[in-house]
Amino acid sequence: IIYMKDVVKSYKMGNNELVVLKEVSLQVKRGEFVAVLGPSGSGKSTLMNIIGCIDVVNSGEYRLSGQNIDAKSEDELSAIRNREIGFVFQKFNLLPKYTAIHNVQMPLLLRGLDRKTAYEKAKYVLEKVGLGDRIDHKPLELSGGQQQRVSIARALVGDPNILLADEPTGALDSQTGKEIMDMFLQLNQQGNTIVIITHDEEIAQKAKRIIHVKDGNIYQ
Ligand code: ATP
Ligand code: MG
Repeated sequence: IIYMKDVVKSYKMGNNELVVLKEVSLQVKRGEFVAVLGPSGSGKSTLMNIIGCIDVVNSGEYRLSGQNIDAKSEDELSAIRNREIGFVFQKFNLLPKYTAIHNVQMPLLLRGLDRKTAYEKAKYVLEKVGLGDRIDHKPLELSGGQQQRVSIARALVGDPNILLADEPTGALDSQTGKEIMDMFLQLNQQGNTIVIITHDEEIAQKAKRIIHVKDGNIYQ
């Protein structure tokens, strides 16, 4: 589902060029549960932004679900992103004024789904992540682990092909972090393709495959 070949990504800083990914090649198959592990500054988020079609490569090839991403316009990228990827972030990125169910419905309403269908779908995914009894709570009325589960529900609600999570346990204590990883494991067993990014060795061990990133290179 993810195919990268000799991908180079660099950032221009004045007259200098900082090469962050150096001819990286990797593949992820549908149904896999992969952790990308590496130290701070190694290029993990850069890799995630490329996988998630938030950023594009300088050279090399990136294909997502068979589509060549390099040659796409901004509008096409955004359509692909909405269809293919469910994002989960370290800091949850929930809307504080809205309840759990409203946060989870939002992506569906933005896509033009009617309120009733969006509500039912959001309720279903919140139940799936174990929050059926918390749907009317606002983010600050939930624990960190519960907030992250709301954000996982929001990522899942549009039936993405890949769940892509950047440091999903980074803002949680280690016990809660492990529970979130167990949640991902369960979702993977139900057929979801999952890529998580982490600097935490113990967290990465919960995935079924680990891709190591170091100094812009990849070791599998
Ligand atoms: P962390 O674990 O701290 O989140 P990371 O592995 O996710 O680190 P990246 O965010 O991918 O690391 O950054 C890799 C390198 O690229 C860093 O040296 C960073 O300063 C640089 N970098 C990232 N984004 C940009 C940008 N938009 N412009 C310039 N340099 C950038
Ligand atoms: Mg990062």
